[in-house]
Amino acid sequence: MRKDVFICHAGEDKTPVIRPLACCLEDRGISYWLDEAEISLGESITEKVNEGLKISDFVVVVLSRAFMSKHWPKRELWSVLNLEAKSGKVILLPILVGTQSEVDGLVNEFPLLNDKLFLLWNGDANRVANAIQTTVYKSRGTQQPKAVDMHSCGHCQTPFQHGVHVCLGCQGRIIYGLTAQEKLNTRQGTAAVLFLIVWLSMVQLPLYTMSWFGFQFPMMWGLGFWSVPLGAILIFSGAFFAEFQNTKKKAHLIRTLR
Ligand SMILES: [Zn+2]
Repeated sequence: MRKDVFICHAGEDKTPVIRPLACCLEDRGISYWLDEAEISLGESITEKVNEGLKISDFVVVVLSRAFMSKHWPKRELWSVLNLEAKSGKVILLPILVGTQSEVDGLVNEFPLLNDKLFLLWNGDANRVANAIQTTVYKSRGTQQPKAVDMHSCGHCQTPFQHGVHVCLGCQGRIIYGLTAQEKLNTRQGTAAVLFLIVWLSMVQLPLYTMSWFGFQFPMMWGLGFWSVPLGAILIFSGAFFAEFQNTKKKAHLIRTLR
């Protein structure tokens, strides 16, 4: 199965760096390849990276003193960067681990790291995972999932997250869209109007059409008894349709009721 990132690291960095980072990547839905990716003494990093690229889109290399002490020759890093230059896209995401002087030492030793966007490990796995997530999402062409929608209370301006039902500022009830009472009012109001129309057209209209227009509009729509259930169906479906329409129209409303 294809993974988003392949993580290259020295075994010594597993507990302090890789474990928390892997946790944070998992939280963000970023898949990774890990266990076989440990670099042991004398192993070729180019081979590892090539291996990783077969199954993943990005290679995260955790550059630490421990990693460097595996006698990783400089030309290895060059060849990885060459691979990247040939593919024309960012594939290598270096994470530099260590104290400021150790990191400075790494950059001095590998000056080409200066041309590259690298991430500094300061113990905050969330920050590094966020940066990896941004890169992965960009390559997928998808947007980062939107942060929670925030609103502010119409009464007291206290901000609240979408979905919250009580305002922390004024204790008001937060209503999304129409209340049940408002829905009922819409239904009842429409039903009353429709009832009036049905009754007028069934009973009243036929009485006057002759004298007004010179023709007889049929009493009870010409249906006799069946006009009653038909009229009822019209009134009910009309009322529910109006409720549905109004609910849809007011769905974006967010109000605080006190
Ligand atoms: Zn409020």
